[in-house]
Amino acid sequence: YRVKHAGGNQVLHFEAQMGEPAQQRQLDRDLRGAQERGQLRLHYQGRFNLHGALVGFEALIRWQHPERGLLGPGSFVPLAERTRLILPIGAWVLREACTQAVAWDFGRQNLCMSVNVSPLQFEQPSFVDEVRAALRVSGLPPRALVLELTESLVMRDLDRARSHIRALQAMGVQVAMDDFGTGYSSLSVLQALPFDHLKIDRSFTQALTTEHGPEASSARVVRLMAAMISLAHTLEMQVTVEGVENAAQLDLLRELGCDHVQGFLLTRPLPPQEAQVQLPQPQTSAS
Ligand code: C2E
Ligand code: MG
Ligand code: MG
Ligand code: MG
Repeated sequence: YRVKHAGGNQVLHFEAQMGEPAQQRQLDRDLRGAQERGQLRLHYQGRFNLHGALVGFEALIRWQHPERGLLGPGSFVPLAERTRLILPIGAWVLREACTQAVAWDFGRQNLCMSVNVSPLQFEQPSFVDEVRAALRVSGLPPRALVLELTESLVMRDLDRARSHIRALQAMGVQVAMDDFGTGYSSLSVLQALPFDHLKIDRSFTQALTTEHGPEASSARVVRLMAAMISLAHTLEMQVTVEGVENAAQLDLLRELGCDHVQGFLLTRPLPPQEAQVQLPQPQTSAS
């Protein structure tokens, strides 16, 4: 594993201030122009198997704001949800991530591109067509795309979620349950929906160890992690553990036998030029 440091790619997280409508309106105006001005970016965070091989990237949106710097999704995605601007932004993310995956030859390399889907985007009756169009336009094989859905997203309407997931899987696209274990009804969701991947939320990973090392971690948390991994495997899902930040966590996860790991220990999310050095055959040309 190569441990990467953030360098200039550290994102800023300012909380959108609810008490200041004027500031919100300004941010909303800025965001409307951001897409056409090319200020939206995707950073890519590697996902690895336990032999240290790259299995794919997760695309994570950032906004290069002219005055405020590089903003993380927490600073503007909730606003974009409220104003429905997330629809054109989400469509852009999907196309951009698929195009990048083709430039990196994901189909031939057997790698996967994971894309986060917003609730409003998933709710659109046209969502499946939008995915199909992104695949067609980019030329990405469907099996190289993983869509990450959260529990609260699918719980909004389980029947629609089921029909969308079935249609996506029939197309060959894979579907992941993101942030598993943090919602109110995670197990009912697994009962209702046939996810291909489970991503265990990083709050569990953080609880695995403390700064005093694995000896200090609670045996209960370790057993809970083991049980979640085993649950995923019983349901024939591949399991990724998120938020791996130290070697003690990685050692434990190796013992517990999860499939894939993701986290700052392995790599931070990086802009494409920096992320691509992690590819099996590093590419020289930018895409
Ligand atoms: P997520 O999908 O669960 O993504 C993982 C988040 O955890 C990312 O934050 C990533 O930078 C962070 N992370 C990864 N490894 C570690 C680690 O070891 N320690 C810690 N503390 N954090 C780690 P980010 O990029 O700020 O994204 C936050 C959330 O925003 C994402 O959570 C996802 O729900 C949402 N998001 C990101 N990109 C998009 C997008 O294109 N569309 C939509 N709708 N949502 C997005
Ligand atoms: Mg995700
Ligand atoms: Mg997650
Ligand atoms: Mg999350």
